[in-house]
Amino acid sequence: MTIADRLAGIKAKVPPHVKIIAVTKTQSLPAILEAYQAGHRLFAENRVQEMIEKQPLLPADIEWHFIGHLQTNKVKFIAPFIRLIHSVDRRELLRVIDREAEKHQRVIPCLLQIRIAREATKFGMSAEDALALCHEYCDGHFRNVQVRGLMGMATFTEDSEQVRQEFAFLASFFNRLRNDVFHGAETFCELSMGMSGDYELAIREGATMVRLGSVIFGERK
Ligand SMILES: *Cc1c(COP(=O)(O)O)cnc(C)c1O
Repeated sequence: MTIADRLAGIKAKVPPHVKIIAVTKTQSLPAILEAYQAGHRLFAENRVQEMIEKQPLLPADIEWHFIGHLQTNKVKFIAPFIRLIHSVDRRELLRVIDREAEKHQRVIPCLLQIRIAREATKFGMSAEDALALCHEYCDGHFRNVQVRGLMGMATFTEDSEQVRQEFAFLASFFNRLRNDVFHGAETFCELSMGMSGDYELAIREGATMVRLGSVIFGERK
């Protein structure tokens, strides 16, 4: 199957309100262009270096998302063009994104990454810290970022009930923030959860964005 075939197959079964973010890490430019030529425009990388090498060589109407752990000293490299940062996992990072966005006279959309997995290796902030940060944001701080929702990565396990519970926790926390802190603001609307192995489950639990690499491009080398 070609990349275009795999994309079409996924688009046929994902509901229209769910955005498919094609994760291009380690993928070649021709592979990315194949997805682009099939009409896809939402792409994501998890490393700044790889993103800034590829971005100038690819069509300008690609909407680039950043999904990996982001060091504050690298925000400046993506600030001019990034369309959504999924992986804001600490207050200091939001502060630096805000500062760099201001330099470019932009507002950078962001998601707060919440730690939902039991594995100690996954990044993300606690729900408690995210709640405090959302209050601060809604009080008018960080004028050059827009907090659009949450992101989470479930535990890497065969136990689908555990994965479902982690997604359900994130969805309920998202709804609580939307109602109690954002007072139903339409701009707080994105829940990024689900990867190649668990995206169908994530959609059933309320994901509005799924981040898919290997099911589109094949296994990474
Ligand atoms: C690599 C990556 C994905 C996609 O992984 P697949 O299992 O290949 O779909 C999604 N989210 C993040 C944060 C990633 O780093």
